[in-house]
Amino acid sequence: MTVDYLIIGQGVSGTLLSRAVMKLGKKVIVIDDGNISTASKVASGVINPVTGKRLVRTWMIEQLLPFAQTTYKEMGNELGVTLISKCNILDFHASRDAAQGFNDKLTEENEYLAQSGDGGKWQEYFRFNYGIGEITPCLLVDIGAMLHNWRDHLLVKDLLVWNRFRIDDCEIGEGGVRYGDIAAEKIIFCDGAASMDNPFFSKLPWSKDKGEALIAEIPGLPANNIYKQGFNIVPWHKGLFWIGATHDWKYADMQPTAAFRKQTEELLNYWLKLPYRIVDHIVAQRPVNLDRKPFVGLHPTVPSVGIFNGMGTKGCSVAPFFADQFAQHLVNGMPLMPDVNVKRFSNILTR
Ligand SMILES: Cc1cc2nc3c(=O)[nH]c(=O)nc-3n(C[C@H](O)[C@H](O)[C@H](O)COP(=O)(O)OP(=O)(O)OC[C@H]3O[C@@H](n4cnc5c(N)ncnc54)[C@H](O)[C@@H]3O)c2cc1C
Repeated sequence: MTVDYLIIGQGVSGTLLSRAVMKLGKKVIVIDDGNISTASKVASGVINPVTGKRLVRTWMIEQLLPFAQTTYKEMGNELGVTLISKCNILDFHASRDAAQGFNDKLTEENEYLAQSGDGGKWQEYFRFNYGIGEITPCLLVDIGAMLHNWRDHLLVKDLLVWNRFRIDDCEIGEGGVRYGDIAAEKIIFCDGAASMDNPFFSKLPWSKDKGEALIAEIPGLPANNIYKQGFNIVPWHKGLFWIGATHDWKYADMQPTAAFRKQTEELLNYWLKLPYRIVDHIVAQRPVNLDRKPFVGLHPTVPSVGIFNGMGTKGCSVAPFFADQFAQHLVNGMPLMPDVNVKRFSNILTR
């Protein structure tokens, strides 16, 4: 079979890139190994315009958020499912200082921050003493539904290979690639943290970042907000809630840790007034780039090989915009933004 692009990985990146190039009339084959502990399958799916203790606007959010909203809405319409909803963050201030910090920030950031007017309503659900701020608008992407429905969409068209890709079995030349009976003009790696071991891209400035979350039943908790106090409680599939997450930069393995579970349960036992039951403990590695911007584009010396990766902690907001930009670059020769073009690392990639 001859296609334009062979895409490795069907996480958020491979899903959105394959859709973007197909919309421009190109033919793809996507290969995915079905691993269940990937960043996309473990992520809560929040698009949050301000992050961190200092409530700083996230990079390019003014363009990324509306673009993401439109993309997930259109994709949901195409697939017959709802993929995105508005779901604001209620930030329960943990201390007087935290409340003061939020209020100070509010004087300069009134586009994405607000005071929550209905603090009293939440006293029956949570224990808190210093008020609630609101981060708005926040969006929640149903990544599970997107991956599942896009996989089915590709399978029906016979465009998905459900297997592990092995680079040693792939012939890569200047003019194209061959993998088994698949011939393609280019191969694009959207394989998340696995790209850290890719011979073409292992030298990029990757950073390891293990994240853990708990999945819980919390009967009675309204599922139309994200609740934050140190960690986030986020509506998840099937009426459950996702609680997390950690950032661990030094770890020996990808196992869930008893320490995270204990610490999170202690926090919940103090903060949450409702009974809860933990039903799962999930973990994955984020594909993080040290300069916090994605890796997009073609290898500087082997133009039949490309990468769409390094989405870090923000794949849901970053990937839609840059999938579209990369597709326009591949198909119509449009320029890539220098800040994301993988050729900014040409010196280390050609060493
Ligand atoms: C705990 C946690 C919480 C997060 N929360 C959020 C959030 O709320 N909002 C947000 O925007 N981001 C969040 N993220 C980050 C987000 O998950 C990532 O930015 C994004 O999912 C990366 O997607 P990806 O497709 O690039 O990589 P991945 O999700 O890792 O996908 C790579 C795919 O490639 C496949 N693959 C790998 N190697 C091979 C191979 N050899 N052959 C075949 N297939 C292969 C894998 O199985 C996988 O399907 C979170 C991450 C974690 C870990």
